[in-house]
Amino acid sequence: MTRFFRQSAADHAGPRHRRWLPALLLALCLPVSAAPMSTAKQGFELIALGVAGGLTDGDLSAWLLRAPGDRHYLGLDAGTVLPGIAAGLKQHAFDDFPWPATRGWTRQGLLFREGISGWFISHPHLDHVAGLVIASTDDLAKPIYGLPVTLDALSRHYFNWSAWPNFADRGTPPALARYRFQPHLPGTTFAVAGSELQGQIFELQHDRMRSSMLLLRRGPAAFAYFGDTGPDQPQASQCLARIWAALAPLVRERRLTGMVIEVSYPDGVDDQHLYGHLTPRWLLSELHRLAGEVGGPRPLAGLTVVIGHIKPDLRLDHDTRRLIRDELRQGNDLGVNFVLPRQGQRVWLPLPDQKL
Ligand SMILES: [Zn+2]
Ligand SMILES: [Zn+2]
Repeated sequence: MTRFFRQSAADHAGPRHRRWLPALLLALCLPVSAAPMSTAKQGFELIALGVAGGLTDGDLSAWLLRAPGDRHYLGLDAGTVLPGIAAGLKQHAFDDFPWPATRGWTRQGLLFREGISGWFISHPHLDHVAGLVIASTDDLAKPIYGLPVTLDALSRHYFNWSAWPNFADRGTPPALARYRFQPHLPGTTFAVAGSELQGQIFELQHDRMRSSMLLLRRGPAAFAYFGDTGPDQPQASQCLARIWAALAPLVRERRLTGMVIEVSYPDGVDDQHLYGHLTPRWLLSELHRLAGEVGGPRPLAGLTVVIGHIKPDLRLDHDTRRLIRDELRQGNDLGVNFVLPRQGQRVWLPLPDQKL
């Protein structure tokens, strides 16, 4: 992995201090139960199941998120699911997972069926749902969270007995009801089943589509997962402005552990051809608006911003990932910690004051 990534938040990914902390506690003659790792750590564990914004059907937008002490992951978009789990297993991303005792299943199967308690879908584009739809025949019952408009589209266009059997709990009969759709209006707070996470959905403008961001909180720690979004100005939208206003107090109180947001194209794509996506220049411009809301000197210094949805380019000598990484690095006058994980990689997002 590049030097860029070695300097990133993944370096906080934990095994090192999980090894030395028990020894340190023993040395200090403290009972380990006085400060168990599982509750002492505040933050989120993020695993990249898919990081590309199109073209490669084995690596499309999908993430898993879990807080220390939670038994299950929440899935965040589901473009690529089973290949992402396989990549995570290869890279030891699930080494801390409390494997269920169920017999007769592969680890990939156990993780998919029992390790993920539910899914949030940011918007119904194919590159955000394909992995879940295709694996739904072998899934267990679980909730799917999203805006009402997103879940309606899932029901009408995928789980409709034409594109695929109807595994939803509504729509074209018979509804097999494996997936319990949980629509939530923007701004309302809801509990995420199988965890202690609280969710809150915010609307995003994605060209002519409605997309969404999920703000997750557990205790003092918060995390923002953005579905596809364009910048406000060329879309004549206020969606990101509203989100920056909501996130600013969390940054100020040092509660925002990080975010996942898209950068689909390198700089140089003109605004008419963004199709509701961000470039490095536009992301930095939007982050400056967040910094302005937060106020004070270097308000976003050290904030982890995980980049996903990088659209590959099939032309020779067009390595969009490298271009985007370099452009973000060159324009990063905010001191943000940009992370571009690969499929299967785990990123630990600690509360800002707990960074070691
Ligand atoms: Zn999209
Ligand atoms: Zn997309």
